[in-house]
Amino acid sequence: MKISSIFGPVPSRRLGLSLGVDIVPYKTCCFDCIYCQLGRTTDKTVQRREYIRKEKIIKDLRDFLDDPPPFDYITFSGSGEPTLNDNIGKLIEEAKKISDVPVVVLTNGALLFDEDLQKELMPADIIIPSMDAVTEDVFNAIDRPHPSLNIEKIIDGLTSFTRRYSGEIWLEIMLVKGVNDRPEDIDAMKRVLETIDAEKIQLNTPIRPPIEDIAKTVDWEKMNDVAKYLGAEVITEFEDDRIKLVGKETEGNILNLLRRRPCTTDEISGALSMEINEVIKYLNLLKDKKIKVRVFQDKNYWVMK
Ligand code: SF4
Repeated sequence: MKISSIFGPVPSRRLGLSLGVDIVPYKTCCFDCIYCQLGRTTDKTVQRREYIRKEKIIKDLRDFLDDPPPFDYITFSGSGEPTLNDNIGKLIEEAKKISDVPVVVLTNGALLFDEDLQKELMPADIIIPSMDAVTEDVFNAIDRPHPSLNIEKIIDGLTSFTRRYSGEIWLEIMLVKGVNDRPEDIDAMKRVLETIDAEKIQLNTPIRPPIEDIAKTVDWEKMNDVAKYLGAEVITEFEDDRIKLVGKETEGNILNLLRRRPCTTDEISGALSMEINEVIKYLNLLKDKKIKVRVFQDKNYWVMK
């Protein structure tokens, strides 16, 4: 079954209803973050190329926009790091031609030192880069990057990009208990933040099941203290009636499928024509309340509780 590059609109903490455009295959990334909700990185790379054909992505977007449900943003994100697709600039331009909705790019920021990429991202309305560490040891511990990457070069790239870019930068920091939340980590981050031109600094902590158990949630009191110190905001769960409606319908479809037979995550993705990372979001919401995992012949199946 052919899967569309478009997913959602999905409820997003920051972006209300976000229409996702997935432009790299699952799971292609230059990092393998310990807190990633998508699963282990299977293609850890820094190579920029056309991972998914531009024509297919544009057709999927045009087809979807023929009769779309309401949504607030078109967001390039998805199954890995979208800036690895070397057509991202043309895709942003195309999205802006065929829709008035603001275009957002979620990125781990690792390749922003690349001047070609900097130019390609200019037409986007909002860039949301992440920065979880400013020292090499913490960077390696939390983001587990491709061996060719180093944090100094990444910060230089982020700093130079934010100075040139005229849209909005919302910088995200994922705080993980015991990994990058020590006072010396926060002090070092504060010094670097002074060099970055961002409209918003957003503090996050893992609240859904991460890939590694060591990725623990920082408690809210500490989150608020750190946010105040860094001049940041804590990102809280977005609640909106339209989101509840979209979410409930998708949850219902997944539960209907699992009432009939146990399925793997891939099978749910195929059966409901949903992107795998979208399926994972919903499975995490339903997990332990209505569904659970059962291992059978080395495969994880989702079953009703
Ligand atoms: S950068 Fe994003 S997609 Fe890549 S491993 Fe980290 S959280 Fe996952």
